[in-house]
Amino acid sequence: MIYSCLHTHSTFCDGKDDIETMCRSAYEKHFESIGFSSHAPIAKKTGIVTGWHLADERLNEYIDAVLDARERWRGRLSVYLGLEMDYIAGRCGPADADLRELPLDYLIGAVHYVASPRGDLMTVDGFDDDFEREFRAFFDNDGKALYRAYYTAYQEMICGGGFDILAHFDLVKKNNRRFGFFLPGDADYQECVAKTVKTAARQTRNFVVEVNTGGMIRGRTGDPYPSSAILRLLKAQNIPLTISADAHAADHLGGCYEDALRIMAGAGYTETMLIDGSKEGKPHWRPQRINPARGAGSAEGMFS
Ligand SMILES: [Zn+2]
Ligand SMILES: [Zn+2]
Repeated sequence: MIYSCLHTHSTFCDGKDDIETMCRSAYEKHFESIGFSSHAPIAKKTGIVTGWHLADERLNEYIDAVLDARERWRGRLSVYLGLEMDYIAGRCGPADADLRELPLDYLIGAVHYVASPRGDLMTVDGFDDDFEREFRAFFDNDGKALYRAYYTAYQEMICGGGFDILAHFDLVKKNNRRFGFFLPGDADYQECVAKTVKTAARQTRNFVVEVNTGGMIRGRTGDPYPSSAILRLLKAQNIPLTISADAHAADHLGGCYEDALRIMAGAGYTETMLIDGSKEGKPHWRPQRINPARGAGSAEGMFS
């Protein structure tokens, strides 16, 4: 069994556990590797100050901490340095030139913020009360407007490039279980999704899409990001996947992987990608076969 998680947060941003605790947990779970992906600093660039992003002035400290962990764990666990970069139209994104100067092994591109028709920004993954208030104030409770804004931003991010991993493809569904503001089977929603997948298929960079179990682990979604219908579209375009937990605590590492692997296999995927070192800032991806027939009982058998 070979496990990894490249979407991992720590106490440098909104994670509960520090880098050493996350590494130890990954090692104890027999992971081959772990990659850290703090929410990249955006305050200086955008003026947006939050409690969940890495502070600009701590960026170097974060880099040093991950590189130190790499040395400490050498020979037992491969430790990679990444960032999860927000795309916010006209303000910041994974294509930002300053990110190229950092010694990153990989960069995750993510859309958390969407702009309303009047230009107000809100996060689609906000917690219940915040989401409810902002959705009403900025989008007049119009679910179609919200998911359209989300997928438009996602397409813009893809076109801009700069990322190695596309994060939580359909994150806009996170609050849908609670608020029911759109139907995933709706033709308009599916059109938005299909257009986004086609945009990804046209991007020539050597990237992967993550299958993210973070929503499942925290009970916000019944399936991974992206859902199986989107995975089938991605498969039709031969876009590779990597599995991650969007871990915000040590006990999230590897969470719901079995379920997600089964869903990936059901969508026609026979392999998932592992990072295998990086070269000149570009990750080298190594395919690993998924074998769902052997995975009925335990995650142990899921990989051949
Ligand atoms: Zn995210
Ligand atoms: Zn994340």
